[in-house]
Amino acid sequence: MAILHNLGFPRIGAKRELKFELEKFWSNKISEQDLQAKAKNIRAKHWDNQKELNLVPVGDFSFYDQVLDTSFLLGNIPDRVAGLEGNSLDNYFRIARGRSAIDKGCSCVHAGEMTKWFDTNYHYIVPEFTKHTEFNLDSARLLSQIDEAKALGHDVKPVILGPVSYLYLGKTKDECQKIDLLDNVLTAYSKLLSELAQNGVNWVQIDEPILVTELSNQWQQAISKTYKVLSNSSVKILLATYFGQLKENLPLLCELPIAGVHLDTINAKDEVKKLIENLNDQQVVSLGVINGRNIWKTDLTALLDWLEPVSNQLGERLWVAPSCSLLHVPVDLNSEVKLDSEIKSWLAYATQKLEELSLVATALNEGREACSQALNDNADAIKNRRNSPLVNNPKVKKRVEAITDDMALRQSPFTQRAAIQKKIFNLPAYPTTTIGSFPQTMEIRQARRQYKNGDINENEYLKLMKAEIQLCVDIQHELELDVLVHGEPERNDMVEYFGEQLDGYAFSQFGWVQSYGSRCVKPPIIFGDISRPSAMTVKWSEFAQTLTDKPMKGMLTGPVTILNWSFVRDDQPRSTSCLQLALAIRDEVLDLEKAGINIIQIDEAALREGLPLRQSQWQEYIEWAIKSFKITSNGVSDKTQIHTHMCYSEFNDMIAAIADMDADVITIETSRSDMELLDVFDEFNYPNDIGPGVYDIHTPNIPTVDYMVALMEKAGERIPAERLWVNPDCGLKTRGWTEVKPALENMVKAAKKLRS
Ligand code: GLN
Ligand code: ZN
Repeated sequence: MAILHNLGFPRIGAKRELKFELEKFWSNKISEQDLQAKAKNIRAKHWDNQKELNLVPVGDFSFYDQVLDTSFLLGNIPDRVAGLEGNSLDNYFRIARGRSAIDKGCSCVHAGEMTKWFDTNYHYIVPEFTKHTEFNLDSARLLSQIDEAKALGHDVKPVILGPVSYLYLGKTKDECQKIDLLDNVLTAYSKLLSELAQNGVNWVQIDEPILVTELSNQWQQAISKTYKVLSNSSVKILLATYFGQLKENLPLLCELPIAGVHLDTINAKDEVKKLIENLNDQQVVSLGVINGRNIWKTDLTALLDWLEPVSNQLGERLWVAPSCSLLHVPVDLNSEVKLDSEIKSWLAYATQKLEELSLVATALNEGREACSQALNDNADAIKNRRNSPLVNNPKVKKRVEAITDDMALRQSPFTQRAAIQKKIFNLPAYPTTTIGSFPQTMEIRQARRQYKNGDINENEYLKLMKAEIQLCVDIQHELELDVLVHGEPERNDMVEYFGEQLDGYAFSQFGWVQSYGSRCVKPPIIFGDISRPSAMTVKWSEFAQTLTDKPMKGMLTGPVTILNWSFVRDDQPRSTSCLQLALAIRDEVLDLEKAGINIIQIDEAALREGLPLRQSQWQEYIEWAIKSFKITSNGVSDKTQIHTHMCYSEFNDMIAAIADMDADVITIETSRSDMELLDVFDEFNYPNDIGPGVYDIHTPNIPTVDYMVALMEKAGERIPAERLWVNPDCGLKTRGWTEVKPALENMVKAAKKLRS
């Protein structure tokens, strides 16, 4: 009998219940007791959703982030919260988000750094280490949740982040080496395992996702040592890896004295055979067979064709599960009442994925006849999706096939274009601009909502938006900015806005996925070949250009960013979907150019986060991603100036690719790093124009003229002044006008000072 289990369930709730409870608690509308009671209900409900499983996960629930939970479980709590008022939950929220509900006035302590969890859009709080770091196990929370689940009649499998991944993902705040903390952290983990044993736990799932990345010898040895030490416990360890292939770490893993291994077969199907060959005949093989990272139904017939022989071979040793924690998918498709019913029939959210898993187990354990109706329905849905005219657009496919290399090339090299553009735009030295959006006031949001709900008609809506654009242009004139923007009032989100206008995209109502803490995103769904039925931004930019003699920058989101922030198709390579997006946005670029928009910015905020986990796979990604951008941007004449914008910090890994994009101007986020991020542009001799951000838009602070001049002087030490632009770090949509106006006023003054 194959054992059914799950690596983790989304904790935010089908209707984001946890988000709302947390936010009520943080704003003192409910007590901690209330919050704990609600959380308990949410957990109970989620375990109930998983009751078909042989083992339910416990410890996957979190008030903010599971890595931060691990820090608190291990008693690794930064000194800066020591001695503050309140209890451990208060300190937890202080590290999570700078303050707890009892903190008054301005923020309490600086929050822990947040960074992306592998190649997902989930952010974790980075563990902090110093040479004084000690670990003091505090397992009360985990143990009480184990009791909770047991009391509800579930068989439990606690889930914890492994010690090696925990150390690896953290940061040292002094000269200490993370690896030197291994012995101490292992003492805490050993203690934890013995407490779990005392509490009747049979199996524990320990996650070591770093095993799918390239590890140095030192870290590989840390894995070997760790599991030698932890295998002394009487609790059986299921070591879980996910998101990728094990490759050179596979032999290492097979030598560990552990009771079982979980492998993500969505990404590492071809490693299953080798894994089985190298494990001993007592060890459990857990196969992650349902994709935990997307929202598509599994082709159960194809899966069973592959899995049945494996099951015959492994017998009792086979466990089946989703590929990774279901944290990365929404909770329940049944919540969706507005989705097109055909498209909906192709989808599975977390709850439906567990139903699929249950079917797989029935088919394996009792034969396919035992669930033939459900398998037939599944086969119908898969077939319908494959052949649906909604998915397939032969015209788009032909267009992608017809892409030629010269489509990705500008007419002339940068220096020639720059000379032409200089004459046309006649901009001063240190030209000033902004990144696109201006403050999104309540009124703007309300107007968009009213229009969407049909409470105001198109004319009324246009009037409101045009008034807002006029206001943005007036303010930019007053501020004497050089290259203007229309302010993006019509856009809810830089990806959703385009997705809504492209064919091949669907939008959910409840497709929420946790991004960080209480913040969730609803990635749009690419279900079919993508095309652009008509121009998406031209009328706004055209109107805005009529309001000024200065250049009005057109504003688009690039294909790679649209792709990386969507749920993507699993029936064609990401690169193909990206090229389809590239062609659609290319058409928009050319339409803007035709409409007299001579400067066009194509944002690629998410270009870097798409880099694969293994360096050996970077090149392939870089090739198609950069090609897609170039197809989008480079069809224009020499007279048109292309800008791009990126808003994350590390460019070292990709500088050659960024140069290859050949945008005339790139604006980047740099103010927090004191311009150090420009070093790599300097070393690489990056040839085109750069606008290093001088105004950190993620804080309410207003930078002074001198501060911005000093930053630009630092930039000038690295990049020749004639290629520098002056601009904020990112878009201004989350800020208020009372901050933005004086900040930009200072920015323009700074540029003027630099010119003189
Ligand atoms: N043009 C977008 C804006 O200004 C860019 C946002 C981003 O880079 N995240 O809002
Ligand atoms: Zn940005």
